[in-house]
Amino acid sequence: MEIKVCKFGGTSCADSRVIEKVAEIIKSQESRKYVVVSAPGKRYSADEKITDMLYALAAEAAENGECANFYKITERYTEIVNGLGIKEDIFPVLEEIKTTIEKTADKDYAASRGEFLNAMIFAKYLGFEFVDAAEIIKFNDNGTLNEDVTYQLCRKRLSKVKNAVIPGFYGSYANGKIKTFSRGGSDITGAIIARAVNASVYENWTDVNGFMTADPRIVKNPTIIDELSYRELRELAYMGATVLHPESIFPVRIARIPINVKNTFEPENKGTMIVPFEKRTDTNKIITGVAGRKGFTIITLEKSMMNGELGFASKILSVLEKYKVSFEHMPTGIDTLSLVIDNNELKGKLDEIVKEIEAAVKPDHVEITPDIALIATVGHGMARKIGTASKIFKTLYDADVNIRMIDQGSSEMNIIVGVEEKDYEKSIKAIYAGLLSE
Ligand code: ASP
Repeated sequence: MEIKVCKFGGTSCADSRVIEKVAEIIKSQESRKYVVVSAPGKRYSADEKITDMLYALAAEAAENGECANFYKITERYTEIVNGLGIKEDIFPVLEEIKTTIEKTADKDYAASRGEFLNAMIFAKYLGFEFVDAAEIIKFNDNGTLNEDVTYQLCRKRLSKVKNAVIPGFYGSYANGKIKTFSRGGSDITGAIIARAVNASVYENWTDVNGFMTADPRIVKNPTIIDELSYRELRELAYMGATVLHPESIFPVRIARIPINVKNTFEPENKGTMIVPFEKRTDTNKIITGVAGRKGFTIITLEKSMMNGELGFASKILSVLEKYKVSFEHMPTGIDTLSLVIDNNELKGKLDEIVKEIEAAVKPDHVEITPDIALIATVGHGMARKIGTASKIFKTLYDADVNIRMIDQGSSEMNIIVGVEEKDYEKSIKAIYAGLLSE
């Protein structure tokens, strides 16, 4: 029988009314057997997310051993339980959570309780079994996922239940101590469960109709991407498209399980399908989307006859390694080499790094260009099609944007340009209008 794993994000669980909608979605298909939930998110834009409130409570407890604001958590869940008409006394559980946070001020434990409580309530409302993620998602002592144990436990536990609700976002170490993924990590839990039960599809329910071809904060009403490959998703997500947690793709990609991003508020909309490269149905498309990020610095080194100097790049990279700095791109010319580095990596280290690089390779000239934005135009189709790069450059030229760096991966599925941050929005708009809006 077909099995679907459905993950519902924070806005899909924000209050009892939305949860009723979600329950309808789940019940409308028998194959929706395993449900992963986030903590309740914002009900309106100025509202607070439960997870943020829980982190604040842990901070409050660390400061003075108290959680005076815990009443806000109680209020939110009481509304949900009453609104859904569930006859369940959640007060003893809430009390225990409050006491534990006050005693331990443990951030991970506190944050995880948003999902924990929500999954308990969902399970009760749906008549599904509640399976605690702490039992089946296991971390190594160094904080990485213990895949072998996790998949073994998930399979063993879930093979015995017909339907289950599992809280997203957290698991536990071997000793039972709670550990969360990074923010937005319920997406990862959903992907792990999908792989564990060998789902036919991993449905990721959110509040938009799918992945957009460009950032809607910059481009007005960008089109939705019907279908994209895991690789394209990875490129777009890494560069800033934020519908899914970037790490959530790995478990399903290994198992070749498609991800369907869908909208809880428009369930009939087919959303975006993320599929293995070989399973794409729309193979005529050239560009899939454009995404970008601000906050990079370019270090350019110039030295005559650099291309003949053995070990030039390796000496530079050793300096970066020493300072634990990773770089994004390294475009080279005959006598020049540039490093494009995320500012977060460089924080407080730039001067020292430049000094050491100067000592190591004695360049004729070093230039630092701060405030750079990177923009990736992504699509498998450009590998077969002549002229995509020239179209991008012409579009940017027409928009009066100076391109500071160009990089095209050898897979020919993306072209990355570096522009000054002040030109970032203008460039995204221009590329969208020139290549994506037809
Ligand atoms: N509730 C967590 C967060 O806000 C995890 C999630 O929603 O995926 O980051």
